[in-house]
Amino acid sequence: MYHLIRVDNRTWAYEDRMPDGDTVRFFVLDGQDKCLVIDSGYLPLDVKGMVSELLKKEGRELSSDGNHKEILLANTHGDMDHTGGNGSFPFFYITETDYENCNLKEKFPDTGYIAAEEGMAIELGDRIIRYYMAPGHTYGNAVILDETGRILFPGDMVQTGTMFMFGEHRCPDHMEESLLKLMKMQDLYGKIYSCHGKMILSPDAVGETLAAWRKARAGQVKPERTTLFGTVEVDLYRCGFCNFYCDVKNR
Ligand SMILES: [Zn+2]
Repeated sequence: MYHLIRVDNRTWAYEDRMPDGDTVRFFVLDGQDKCLVIDSGYLPLDVKGMVSELLKKEGRELSSDGNHKEILLANTHGDMDHTGGNGSFPFFYITETDYENCNLKEKFPDTGYIAAEEGMAIELGDRIIRYYMAPGHTYGNAVILDETGRILFPGDMVQTGTMFMFGEHRCPDHMEESLLKLMKMQDLYGKIYSCHGKMILSPDAVGETLAAWRKARAGQVKPERTTLFGTVEVDLYRCGFCNFYCDVKNR
């Protein structure tokens, strides 16, 4: 079950351990007029209800006009460990590519979606959040920037855990380019809050992830054959800062 972590006076993380032992978390960013949840974890829970309770407990449930705050959901990508609670919201933001590729219409038929695009802003009143496209981990992968708080939410693409880079939803050919894009954006953020592994990372973690990825891509690390979920054979590349699960056939 998730436990709640207060990150600062208006940012929280819900954290849990998945059956494979990896840590997973999603984030709550509160603003004066609206509240934004980034990703929704792996369990099919009433995440919107959980966040509503949290805001009430914190005395932050009302917007500046005295009405109940709207609670929005934005996904970094469409993997199941980031969309578990999506069905508890009336709609969510995600890229059209991941909405289609990850079959989210079939999974959440009663929940609408808004296609996130490069530079799209979500305004929470006194806190501006913005989407940036960063394909690699998935075709429609995006990162979300808290422009006001100068925090980058990279989903899975910057982390100290093991990144899934196998299977049909991945596009490894774009990973390097996307990590270079995040490095170029480094004047926009002072810290990174990641969904797996260590939660709070410094901006240097982008370069560390890129160096690790290049090692795996160049075959500088000998892969270990491993079995995931009892059935799926993958290659595990241990690259120091983080690890990667890649296809046995085509890395
Ligand atoms: Zn993930």
